[in-house]
Amino acid sequence: MLPSHLPIANKLLASLPRSEYQRLLPQLEMVQLTEGEVLCEAGTLMRYVYFPCTALLSLLTRVDEVEVFAVALVGREGVSSVACALGSQTSPFRTLVQSPGTAMRMKARVFTAEFRATAALREVVLAYVLQLTLQISQTAACNRFHVIEERLARWLLMTRDRLSSDHFHMTHEMLGNLLGVRRVGVTHAAHALKQRHLIDYSRGAIDIVDGIGLQAAACSCYRMVEGRHGKA
Ligand SMILES: [Zn+2]
Repeated sequence: MLPSHLPIANKLLASLPRSEYQRLLPQLEMVQLTEGEVLCEAGTLMRYVYFPCTALLSLLTRVDEVEVFAVALVGREGVSSVACALGSQTSPFRTLVQSPGTAMRMKARVFTAEFRATAALREVVLAYVLQLTLQISQTAACNRFHVIEERLARWLLMTRDRLSSDHFHMTHEMLGNLLGVRRVGVTHAAHALKQRHLIDYSRGAIDIVDGIGLQAAACSCYRMVEGRHGKA
């Protein structure tokens, strides 16, 4: 069982009344997640829900059984597998570890039962479901209307906010998943941001060197979604 006196890194859990959090604590297990790990495949049974602490997850969807792209990021502001709360046992998305780190996990069947029985948990999870729905719908609009460079700036800022760091690791393949484009498209967009002295990168290590400039370079979707709920 986790010690109850430690700061609660996951913001969703931290927003619960302390007594509720302590009641749920025996059901939570701290786990270390590795980059690229698939926590759940789309269409398969969800065994656990994950509350990221320092890890970052991406929710991926598939088009024509071939193309894969991200519809949302889930960091310490949220929880994976919210479909459990909405009555589904299978995941609509592939849940991938975008950035390694820690998360607290709970068995999906326990989460579903607690969601139904506990008003405080229901309240914070439903507020997050709304936030996630906005993120997913804005991503759909973004993919239709905004150019790759603006979208890349948006995803990098969303990653920075969730990791609370201007320095993080992200492969071209992962960026390709976020953007729904092939490697060459990622390379061009990243090079353009580097030429504008907004980011630097080398072998998957990304540095945001001008966060304000990168915000100006990002499409309005960043401010629409992230600004509405505050930084993650
Ligand atoms: Zn956009």
